[in-house]
Amino acid sequence: MAKSVAIIGAGVSGLTCGVLFAERGFPAKIFADRIGTRTTSGAAGALWFPYDAEPAVKIIPWALATYKVLSGLTSDPGSGVSMIELRQYCRTGEIQIPDWASPFVISSNNASPARTETSLSISAFESGFAVRVPLIDTTMYLDYLVDRFQKGGGEMKDDVRFGKLEEVDPQFDLIINCAGVGARDLAHDADLEPHRGQVAIVPKIENLNCAIVCDDDPLMYAIPRTQDCVFGGTNDVSDDLNADPQTTKAIVAECSRVLEVEKPPVFRERVGLRPFRKSGVRLEKEKLRDDRIVIHNYGHGGSGFTLSWGCASDVFQIANDGFR
Ligand SMILES: Cc1cc2nc3c(=O)[nH]c(=O)nc-3n(C[C@H](O)[C@H](O)[C@H](O)COP(=O)(O)OP(=O)(O)OC[C@H]3O[C@@H](n4cnc5c(N)ncnc54)[C@H](O)[C@@H]3O)c2cc1C
Repeated sequence: MAKSVAIIGAGVSGLTCGVLFAERGFPAKIFADRIGTRTTSGAAGALWFPYDAEPAVKIIPWALATYKVLSGLTSDPGSGVSMIELRQYCRTGEIQIPDWASPFVISSNNASPARTETSLSISAFESGFAVRVPLIDTTMYLDYLVDRFQKGGGEMKDDVRFGKLEEVDPQFDLIINCAGVGARDLAHDADLEPHRGQVAIVPKIENLNCAIVCDDDPLMYAIPRTQDCVFGGTNDVSDDLNADPQTTKAIVAECSRVLEVEKPPVFRERVGLRPFRKSGVRLEKEKLRDDRIVIHNYGHGGSGFTLSWGCASDVFQIANDGFR
């Protein structure tokens, strides 16, 4: 009989692990305080792009493995995953194209590629490059993962908040910890730092058919989705989950200025805490006081979607080696 698996967390990390275990025949149950769109994952844009996560030597292979899976999912319209052109810009100086990006580069120059390739004129930037990457519409994708998990036989229980890992029902042979920033208390991990992000959801912007990102201060991005557009953003160390109206105003003003459009109305504001871990993503097993094994999978910072399938696959590998 296959070993039973309890997964803590129903954000992108927990759901992706859940899908892998359930579809490979393991009895799996997800326990979470909050599910899907009510998690940090629900506040994300989300683009495939390694950002605000460490260490590069591990991040890039996980990201590349995830790229493959996500681009495969684009053939299923129900997944909410599509391919998009992402234009990464610099306000001053020449942008550096990271080595990992080279297979996906469409164009690069120092005279604002957006100006040459779309009707949107962007004068705010000095240089940039364009890559083709998966765009994950979180309003669809998280439900899609839940659906796949349940069709694979997985069960879910929400409104459960564990004080410690040993509280998970002893009937489960293995625990996977995908608690995001919640792992700070659950795994007593002082290395976790909440990198707060606020976004404004606005109506679709006419002629904006690529994602525009600039990491220079102030962080700015505009991500067109099926029904709306995500304007961002912020990244500061804070636990505050309340949206700040002044921040929303500043985000909308900067995005509108860069895109040279009228300030759009704001449908919704979202805040999420990127689970950044100073010593890097934690993906390893540990023995609990009751002798059960927990596999930690948290600390993905600003790259939870970008790393999700690569990390889940390593979690599965560790579990499978232990079960043999
Ligand atoms: C504004 C913003 C934009 C972003 N954009 C992108 C992007 O474009 N691309 C990208 O790849 N990433 C992006 N990210 C980062 C990404 O959202 C996170 O890395 C990702 O959501 C982390 O997922 P997770 O499943 O590990 O954690 P979470 O989504 O936080 O889920 C944690 C889960 O654990 C549960 N939990 C926590 N503690 C407990 C407990 N004690 N007991 C029971 N359950 C518990 C929670 O209820 C929840 O279900 C963005 C983040 C923000 C905030």
